[in-house]
Amino acid sequence: MPTPDDDHVRLYIPGPIEVSPDTYQAMSHGMIGHRGGEFVSLYEEVHPKLQQLFGTAGPVFLSTSSAWGVMEGAVRNLVAKKVLNCCCGAFSDKWYDVSLRCGKAADQLQVEWGEPILPEAVDARLATGEYDTVTLVHNETSTGVMNPLADIAAVVRKYPDVLLVVDTVSSFSTVPIAVDELGIDVLLTGSQKALALPPGLALFSVSERALARAEAIADRGYYFDFLEFKKNWEKMMTPSTPCISLIYGLRHQLDKIFAEGIEARYARHEALNRMVHDWVATHGFEHFAPEGYRSKSLTCVANNREVDVSAWIKAMREKHRLVINGGYGKVKGVTFRISNMGDETEERIAAMLEAITDTLPA
Ligand SMILES: *Cc1c(COP(=O)(O)O)cnc(C)c1O
Repeated sequence: MPTPDDDHVRLYIPGPIEVSPDTYQAMSHGMIGHRGGEFVSLYEEVHPKLQQLFGTAGPVFLSTSSAWGVMEGAVRNLVAKKVLNCCCGAFSDKWYDVSLRCGKAADQLQVEWGEPILPEAVDARLATGEYDTVTLVHNETSTGVMNPLADIAAVVRKYPDVLLVVDTVSSFSTVPIAVDELGIDVLLTGSQKALALPPGLALFSVSERALARAEAIADRGYYFDFLEFKKNWEKMMTPSTPCISLIYGLRHQLDKIFAEGIEARYARHEALNRMVHDWVATHGFEHFAPEGYRSKSLTCVANNREVDVSAWIKAMREKHRLVINGGYGKVKGVTFRISNMGDETEERIAAMLEAITDTLPA
């Protein structure tokens, strides 16, 4: 088995996360052309598994980009009137900025960092009739908040002309997600979070309604044009040359996910997350996110003990060759984050918790 490098530092940051040696090995498959039968077979093999994970009977597209490419693409392809960006942390706040940079009319539904987006607030804004698109980050990775997706989707569905775009970058494959059942128009994720692949591949579903909307929008560009993705998907291909090695890695990870069983995978993430929560409680820390709205794939811890987080992370890196994350954006140092997603096991999470306890400043 290849190892990443001799002196590898294990990642317990919320992305990129650890990539297993067997995944790297799967990625080292010999190169193939992307306009031939071998690629078509590869896409045909992964597609039904992706549909199952997305909870959709519709297409799942593969984008050779990080998630932001599709986040920007969704705004460019779908917003004709005005977009409501639900903002509750670094990623969701930035989506508003991206909407403006795409030249779209946009408003924020802003809550304090650490608070969730509530369905009543979305309803009140949509009742104005001003919007044709809503963006929501399901699991706000910067604050550890998991927003109530099903309830928010139910509210958006009351407005037939409003499309719902959902970022599940850090929650995908760790909790059940049901695109068709919830009526989500675009659901997107990236390779380097819970799928435990290297960065560079984004995956997304697009509803019929969203494709119909895109047809009426002139400046969709080329690289992220949803209609180009649809046209190529009909041949089980991608608009431009895809990251073939990552798709071989994806095939391998999907095989692992279905060998474990989806329900068992969700249960494992829940159990590993609970181990981290127990550590938080027994070491005198508090959660940044309120009870009932906490992520299952990572934990954002309030640094109420005011430990020197950067010195702590330096110590765990040097002594134990692993790192957690010292907080993101304006809550850097005020919080720290521990990831429990991907291929992690109880043994490894226990060892990580032991290592961070060993180096925790007094
Ligand atoms: C990591 C992350 C992103 C950004 O993904 P990139 O791969 O850097 O484009 C977006 N949204 C959320 C919720 C994330 O966790």
